[in-house]
Amino acid sequence: MRKICFALLIICCALSACSKNPGDSVGSGMRKHSAEYADLFDTSAEFTAFTATDDDFAEYSRAFQTEVSELTKLFDIYNEYPGVNNLYTVNKNAGVAPVEVDARIIDMLSFSVEAYEKTDGAVNVALGPVLKIWHDFREEGMADPEAARLPELEDLKEAKKLCDINNVIIDREKSTVFLAKPGMSLDVGAVAKGYATKVAAVKLKEMGCGSFVINMGGNVYVGGKPAEKTRQYWGVGVQDPGFGSGNIFDTIYLNDKAIITSGNYQRYYTVNGKNYCHIIDPETLFPSETFAGVTIICEDAAVGDMLSTALFIVQKDKGEKLLAEFGADALWIDDNGGISYTDGYKAVSSNLSGFTNNGAPKQR
Ligand code: ADP
Ligand code: MG
Repeated sequence: MRKICFALLIICCALSACSKNPGDSVGSGMRKHSAEYADLFDTSAEFTAFTATDDDFAEYSRAFQTEVSELTKLFDIYNEYPGVNNLYTVNKNAGVAPVEVDARIIDMLSFSVEAYEKTDGAVNVALGPVLKIWHDFREEGMADPEAARLPELEDLKEAKKLCDINNVIIDREKSTVFLAKPGMSLDVGAVAKGYATKVAAVKLKEMGCGSFVINMGGNVYVGGKPAEKTRQYWGVGVQDPGFGSGNIFDTIYLNDKAIITSGNYQRYYTVNGKNYCHIIDPETLFPSETFAGVTIICEDAAVGDMLSTALFIVQKDKGEKLLAEFGADALWIDDNGGISYTDGYKAVSSNLSGFTNNGAPKQR
């Protein structure tokens, strides 16, 4: 069953602020163009860039789409594609045989194994069997809210036995992945969109695209500066986690950064009046209740996505250590609307630091 994606968590305010209509001249000789894609990573993806010509934009957007649609197929755990060995193929061959895969799968999984180690297991892409149980109960509960129920802890514990990441055998030389026990499965939902955002951002910069925004279902990357004389920074709206409010809590202003939010209001279901979200604490095997939302700011979108899931699960002090290790910043919002943030977050926040109304910071 395909994942359902609700509203975007992060909204790129600068886009509307810069220029209302695609193609408008913005006084710099560059024009803003946007393209939307409905079929990438089962979410809506948007690519916006200021370019000198329409042809330049066509070239960049083609490269963006090609790169991200290839990664969508490679990281897909629900569907197989003719002639492609993807994560579905790897999962299907659990306990059977190593599967030869594209180097990008090897790279993303190596990154994920490292993430497991750095987060003391909070982010575990081998948690597939446990995540599948929650996925199925959530889908059922959303389809029929009256009948919504929780999985049995015993079943979750049984599934956890098949989630040992040490049994994910990656052979770089042969470019193979082998899940050593039957019943194991990978789920890369915590890192895949960020990884793809990073790959696309690197590619676009290599091609010479110097002013762009990627929004992959809430995984945002802002490249360079908006090509507009009066603006130095892209403004990115951070959504208030209040369930269904859709309000913008803050606008942050930055360049060449990834901004990623994990929240409990994006994908969840309700049992006996209580909401259960889609991010599972591997210790309790239940949805994490530590925070309502966490927003990460960092240079690398793959790291940012991984950290957004990790910091949503771990306590704040542990999260702070991770941020320091990766050179990232964060905003935490709890269920009562209480907030905390790093100095680096404060420095780019319009709520907390203050900006003039065209996005120029007052305090730097
Ligand atoms: P989203 O993908 O909704 O933006 P996240 O980046 O936080 O949010 O990823 C959540 C997804 O990661 C879940 O839908 C699930 O597929 C997967 N997941 C949930 N809990 C964990 C976990 N502890 N470790 C690894 N993956 C997880
Ligand atoms: Mg994540």
